[in-house]
Amino acid sequence: MFGLKADWSLDVFERYFTLGDYAGGEARWCPGCGDFAVLNTVHRVLRDAQLPPEKTVAVSGIGCSSRLPHYMGTYGFHGLHGRALPLANGVKARRPDLDVWVATGDGDCFSIGAGPWIHSIRYNMDMVVLVFDNAIYGLTKKQTSPTSPTGMTTNTHPHGAPLPALNPLTVTLGISNVSFVAQVVDWNPPMLYETIRAAHRHRGTSFVRIIQRCPVFSDSFCKPLQEDASRILLLHHEDGIPVDDSVRRLFENQREHDPADWLGAMEIARDSSRVPMGLLYRNPDAVVYEDASARGLDKTNAEKLAAIESALDRFSI
Ligand code: SF4
Repeated sequence: MFGLKADWSLDVFERYFTLGDYAGGEARWCPGCGDFAVLNTVHRVLRDAQLPPEKTVAVSGIGCSSRLPHYMGTYGFHGLHGRALPLANGVKARRPDLDVWVATGDGDCFSIGAGPWIHSIRYNMDMVVLVFDNAIYGLTKKQTSPTSPTGMTTNTHPHGAPLPALNPLTVTLGISNVSFVAQVVDWNPPMLYETIRAAHRHRGTSFVRIIQRCPVFSDSFCKPLQEDASRILLLHHEDGIPVDDSVRRLFENQREHDPADWLGAMEIARDSSRVPMGLLYRNPDAVVYEDASARGLDKTNAEKLAAIESALDRFSI
């Protein structure tokens, strides 16, 4: 294939990947489901980054969104409930050269997967974690999830969810060694694209909570946000998610927020009067587990032997 450079000279690529190279089986979500928007955006980000499909892995747990690996033309692993993150960590530990993408949901990640969620964020392996949050268990037909708002009627709580919803942003921000936390809605294509692209460019675990439409079981979760954009707080900063003018015009509530400011991020995440959209936090200096665990691996056998001898010498009497 041929590619044009800005100076009009020709580059000849050995391979050029099109959207079709990243597509898998026909997606079977309900009409109007926000998962379609995320899937299409992931395909576009992969295409624009020209990631070889054979060097890319999509990993998921259980839930509607966890069907995503089936719809990718990459490698994939549709795992167990709540276990998307440990699987992804395992893939990355064994094959750090692969690009790892995790698709998980609010039930999968924040409930049964809550333990792996905390530790995976702390391990900060280089991967993208997309949490499709529709505030309901959709696949199993409308049970209360950790992010179901108080009062939402579900099949497990027909009189309304009794507890305050878990806040995934404050929890994630509170985990040691957290390095990237963003939030976006599935129905704003430019922000969805830029957020997922920024997540992919960040080195470390990029946690993206996507507020996702489930018109079948939790319409009341997204509808108010779709109908009243003033409920969303658009975050912008030169180091944040790029926001173009077409997006700025849509949201009257905006705030400049430096993603290096952890306390500011926590304050924004705790404020229940608005739903923040954009990059809350990024720390490019957080320890990446692959780097920490690879230290010393490039030593020669003689150097390794000398290091072992020296360690043993400390115990000599
Ligand atoms: Fe999407 Fe909801 Fe249907 Fe699941 S039940 S596919 S989340 S619309």
